[in-house]
Amino acid sequence: MREVEYRSHGVPLEEYELTRRDHRRQKESEEIGRAARRMADEDAEKCRADPARAERRRQALEKVAELMSTFEKHDYEIMRWRVRLYCGHIVETQMHCSYSDPVTGGALPRRCSECGAKGLTIVAYEPIGPLGERPQPQPAQPQPQKRPTRAQLERRVAALEEENKRLRTKGSP
Ligand SMILES: [Zn+2]
Repeated sequence: MREVEYRSHGVPLEEYELTRRDHRRQKESEEIGRAARRMADEDAEKCRADPARAERRRQALEKVAELMSTFEKHDYEIMRWRVRLYCGHIVETQMHCSYSDPVTGGALPRRCSECGAKGLTIVAYEPIGPLGERPQPQPAQPQPQKRPTRAQLERRVAALEEENKRLRTKGSP
């Protein structure tokens, strides 16, 4: 797997000051959140009016859930991050290890576990380390003795018989 260089932004997190860009990102994120909720509401409305649509939706979601469950993640594939949220609190989050930082990793706006505010963007971050240790590669096992094939055995027998014959011939006067 490709080595990922994990990035930090706005460290030390405790002293980070919000920039204009942070305010803009948070505002945009809230607008997107509102638009998504509106669309979900409209969709729910349509599903109520159309049971076939609701059933198709349910099946599609099931398929996605099934697909997600096949992407089993190991602890060593999860990167832990210390992040500062828009509200100013510092919390921990986790991302797949292939992302160099939680923002480009597409971290969703989240609720702050400290103050309870919702839909908060990440304004600063630093990597902590992987959630679990990568398992050590197994030491190479000694190659098990290969069982000879039947053809190999037959050739060996033939060679031994040949040898025998030669020895007998040589030994006889
Ligand atoms: Zn907070």
